[in-house]
Parts: sequence; structure tokens; C-alpha cells
Amino acid sequence: MKDIATPVRTKEILQKYGFSFKKSLGQNFLIDTNILDRICDFAEISKETCAIEVGPGIGALTEQLAKRAEKVVSFEIDQRLLPILADTLSPYDNVRIIHSDVLKADVRKVMVEEFGEEKDVMVVANLPYYVTTPILMKLLEEDLPLRGIVVMLQKEVGDRIAAKPGTKAYGSLSIAVQYYTEAETVMIVPKTVFMPQPNVDSAVIRLTKRKEKAVQVDNEDFFFAVVRASFAQRRKTLMNNLVNNLSQVKGNKELLEKVLSDVNIDPKRRGETLSIEEFAQLSNGLYQALQ
Ligand code: SAM
Repeated sequence: MKDIATPVRTKEILQKYGFSFKKSLGQNFLIDTNILDRICDFAEISKETCAIEVGPGIGALTEQLAKRAEKVVSFEIDQRLLPILADTLSPYDNVRIIHSDVLKADVRKVMVEEFGEEKDVMVVANLPYYVTTPILMKLLEEDLPLRGIVVMLQKEVGDRIAAKPGTKAYGSLSIAVQYYTEAETVMIVPKTVFMPQPNVDSAVIRLTKRKEKAVQVDNEDFFFAVVRASFAQRRKTLMNNLVNNLSQVKGNKELLEKVLSDVNIDPKRRGETLSIEEFAQLSNGLYQALQ
């Protein structure tokens, strides 16, 4: 039988079940096995790897993962896809589909139950684009024992994630993801490999989890609050953004000036020019000054 991710087989499956795409669930299915092969290559999926997938659709990527991995666990929100997946993935006995919104799922518990301890685990997915950032942030913030994440997403979000300081795309998302992982864009993907074709360009990114976080911070919540406040209005200086948007120092220009001078950061700089190390120095300096 042909692979699921071929245009002919995908059309057959959709027709057989009278399936109609839900745009609101980001349903753009992959119909190109070469792209799927490359995604699995980038994720280095072997028989020792367990894979977590978000949104199997009709099983295009799930099938390729099942062929290569020890086990695949896949979260799907759309109940209509469950009977289809039971059919399309019936040749594979190493796949478990969980009917759940991944944002509400206890992924850590599922990992222990399905994979056991001490496994090589990768998240691999063609993400639903309406909810890319919350899914990635959930997987990272929960500090799950993953080797990494290889996902298809909007190219524009991929650019922001992998961006370096001083560029237009650099912002709080870049810092949040780079705090936990080493991020790189590994492939730009044409619209033609999807059914239906999305309105935006797509890319595949690879996030390799760091053994240690990129920087040491005294308080993670405060660090991310400083980062968010620094980017609140991109045209404003760091000083203006912090004094107006960081609740703990609101209006306290004197304190900000002292700490910025202590850590050697010019208050007239813009947030987008600060490296993640400088953000760590700044947030640690402020945090200590506020104790
Ligand atoms: N993996 C398939 C492929 O590549 O052909 C489908 C990818 S499609 C871009 C995204 C999938 O995620 C859809 O099947 C959609 O129903 C599912 N989905 C959307 N939101 C979800 C959520 N919050 N949790 C789990 N699955 C979700």
C-alpha cells in the first residue's frame, strides 16, 4: 500500500471518510514523503527513539515515525480523526493516539506511562499554526526530559525563534526558546506540500535542549518579565520600556539607572540589541536590588 502522505492516498482517505478540513484547527496535511523523511532525519529518529507527535491528522508523519522509532505517542484534538487513524495506522503496533488537546495534557505523565524512564525522546510535529507558540512554550516550560523538538511551523515564527540580537525578528520569543534550547531553522518548505495549502510560508526548526539553561538567573519569572517589558514598545529605549512596563520598578528611574550602570548597559539602548547574557545580568541586578 502507498504511504499515507501521497496525494493519491490522502485524497482516497479523505473521500472514504467524507472528511472536511477545519481551518480553525490548523488542518493542513502533508502530502510529500520526501519532506517527512527529511523531518525524521533532522530529528535523528532511530529504533532507540520514542517520538511524541502533536496533531497526527490522518497519520502522514505518524506513519513515517512509526517506521523508524521505537514508539510513537500522538495527541489529536479532533475526534473525527480517531476512526480514520485507527484505520490508516492499523499496520503499526507501536503507535498510541491520545484524544486530547495537547495544551491540556499531562505530557510528563504520558511519557512515563508510555515510554518508561530514561528514554531518548523527541517531539516531532507539523504543528497546527494557530497555536504554535503556546505548544512550544508548554513543552519547554514544563522542562520535560526531551532530547529536542523538530517541528514544522510558520516561517515567520521560525525566524523569530532562531533570531539573533540586533535583528528585526529578535524578541521575547527568541529569548524564551533560546534560554532552553539551541534553535536553528533547518528547512524552508513550499506551500505545495500541504493539502490544503496554507496562506503562509513554512519552515522546519530544530530545537536541541540544553543540558544547562543558556544563562543563570536568580528568578526565572522575573527574568522573563524583564525581557517582556524590554520589548513592550520596540521603538522605545530600554529605560523607557522598563520604567513604564515592569511593574516591580514602575516609575523608579533612579533604581533602574543605578542597576543599568552597575551592569554596564546603556539605558538608551533598545531591548532588541541586548544579548540573552545581558538580559540575565540586568534581571539579576534588578532582582537583587529589589530584595
Ligand atoms: N501531522 C499531520 C500532517 O502533517 O499531515 C497533520 C498536521 S495539521 C498541520 C495539525 C493537526 O493538529 C491537525 O490534525 C489538528 O486537528 C491537530 N490539532 C490542532 N490543535 C490541536 C491541539 N490543541 N492539540 C492536539 N492536536 C491539535
